[in-house]
Amino acid sequence: MSRFSRIKGPRPLYICAAAGAGVAAYRFLKPESLNASLHPHDFAPYILVDKQSVSSTNAIFTLHDGFGVPEPDSVKEARRRGVWSVQAKQPQLQIARAYTPLPSKPNESDDEDGHSLRFLIRQETGGEMSTYLHRLLAGSTIELRGPTVEYELPPDVNEVLFLAGGTGIAPAMQVAEALSRSTGSRMHLLWANRRREECEGGFGDEALFDTSGQQPSWWRNLLGLGQDSNQALPVGTQKVVSKGLIVRELEALKERGQSATRGLHVQYYVDDERSFIKPGDVAKRIHTESSEGQGSRLILISGPDGFVEYWAGKKLWVDGREVQGPLGGVLANMDLKNWQVVKL
Ligand SMILES: Cc1cc2nc3c(=O)[nH]c(=O)nc-3n(C[C@H](O)[C@H](O)[C@H](O)COP(=O)(O)OP(=O)(O)OC[C@H]3O[C@@H](n4cnc5c(N)ncnc54)[C@H](O)[C@@H]3O)c2cc1C
Repeated sequence: MSRFSRIKGPRPLYICAAAGAGVAAYRFLKPESLNASLHPHDFAPYILVDKQSVSSTNAIFTLHDGFGVPEPDSVKEARRRGVWSVQAKQPQLQIARAYTPLPSKPNESDDEDGHSLRFLIRQETGGEMSTYLHRLLAGSTIELRGPTVEYELPPDVNEVLFLAGGTGIAPAMQVAEALSRSTGSRMHLLWANRRREECEGGFGDEALFDTSGQQPSWWRNLLGLGQDSNQALPVGTQKVVSKGLIVRELEALKERGQSATRGLHVQYYVDDERSFIKPGDVAKRIHTESSEGQGSRLILISGPDGFVEYWAGKKLWVDGREVQGPLGGVLANMDLKNWQVVKL
C-alpha cells in the first residue's frame, strides 16, 4: 500500500496550525468558531475516550466528536462506498497522517446518531505521529479531518479476495462492512501478521489438513502451533487461547453479513509460526466455479510496502499523485481470469 510510503512521497501533509495550542481548550470554544464535526478541509476536535491494547505495538483508539454532534452524512456515505480514511494532526510538529476508521461497532446501527470513530493504530519505531498518538491519555483532544474515499467499490461487486498485512486489516474490515450490505456477495480475507499477538485465537475457517491428510490442522492451531507446523503435543496439554480484539471484531463482521451474503471467510497467517500466504491459497479462491457469474471480482491488497510489492508490484507516483502502476509481483505470474487487482 503504500499506506506507509505515502508519508515519504508528496502526499504527506504539512499543515499550518498554531503549535502548542492546548488541545483541551476546544471543549470550551463555541461550536461555531470551529468545525463541530468532521470536514474534508478543516480540522475538527475529537476526544480520545478509550485506548484498548491489541498487542505490544497496536491499539484500538476510540474517539468521540468533541461537540457530541452525530456522525455526518459524509461518513455514513464513505462507510457504504468502500475504503476511506481521515487525517489526524500532530499540533506541535505540524504534520498530519492518514488513518483508516474501523467499522462501526456491531450494536451501532446506521440509523443511530453514533459519533465515534475507531482506529487500529500501530506504534512505529521512531514514528512521529504514531508515537504521539500512543502517548496520549484518555480525555485528550485529537484533531481530525476527512473523510477521504481511498477506493470506491464498484456497484456490481460480487466477490472480493482481500490480502491484508498487519494494519492493512483496517481497510479489509471496511470492505467487509460495505459488502455486508451487498446481497449475494462473498469475501475471502487472508490476513498475515508477523506475530501471533496481533491475532490471538484467530485460526481461520478452513478445516485444513496436513499434506498427509491425517491431522486436521485446526487441532494444531488450537495448540498454538500454526498452520504449517508438524509438531504435536500430547492430548491434554492444549492451551486455551483467548481471542484478540480484532479477531473478535472479524467474527462479529462475519455474523453481520450472514443473512444477505455468501459470507466473509477469514484465514490467518503468522510469520513466526512459519505460516505464509501462498500463491496456491489465492488460486484456490479465485478458480472456483462460483467465480464465473455476473459482477466484478476484485483482489484487493493492503499492508506494508513490501507486502503490496511482493503480491502486485510497486505503486507509482505520477504528477504528484500515487497511481496503481503495472501489475507485478506474484499475481503478475498467475492466471487471474476475470479478477481485477487493486493495490490500496
Ligand atoms: C490512506 C492511509 C491509511 C492509513 N491507515 C492506517 C491505520 O489505520 N493504522 C495505522 O497504524 N497506520 C495507517 N496508515 C499509516 C499512517 O498514516 C502513518 O504513516 C504511520 O502511523 C506512521 O506515521 P508516523 O508519523 O508515526 O511515522 P514517521 O515519522 O512518518 O516514520 C515512519 C517510519 O519511517 C521511519 N523513518 C522516518 N524518517 C526516517 C528517515 N529519515 N530515515 C529512515 N527511516 C525513517 C520511522 O522510524 C518509522 O519507522 C495509513 C496510511 C495511509 C496513506
